[in-house]
Amino acid sequence: MKLSDAIRKGAEQLPQAHGVLFERDVVHDGVYTSEGGGMYVRWTCRPIRACALGAAYLGTFGAPAELSFVHSNDEPRFFTELEVAYPKLCSSPLAIPCGHSDQLGHTLEGVIAHLNDQCGWSRERIADWLDTLEDKP
Ligand SMILES: [Zn+2]
Repeated sequence: MKLSDAIRKGAEQLPQAHGVLFERDVVHDGVYTSEGGGMYVRWTCRPIRACALGAAYLGTFGAPAELSFVHSNDEPRFFTELEVAYPKLCSSPLAIPCGHSDQLGHTLEGVIAHLNDQCGWSRERIADWLDTLEDKP
């Protein structure tokens, strides 16, 4: 799958997040009986919003089976999985589509995060821009 198509596919599944791959919500996952016979409530975490890179993750791998309650606990692993699937995320794009030239030294992954978080781009717009890169010989 193309990275741009993965972003589009994921964007159809959840609204846009900013600053994190996944915004998450803690939900009541049912009441269970422990081995000792006591009752306990299980809580789980589910994604409710995804940034452009989170959408790429969703579009490629589907929703993570387990989300930790704290972003920093699982996001490094998700980034690694994305970078393996799309090695070009670690390369630098030739052209930056916004006027922020301080981004020039950044990787494609960093530029996507910048467009999503700082420039207010929709994920679809980011996907369209990625297609212009992919069309270049
Ligand atoms: Zn910018």
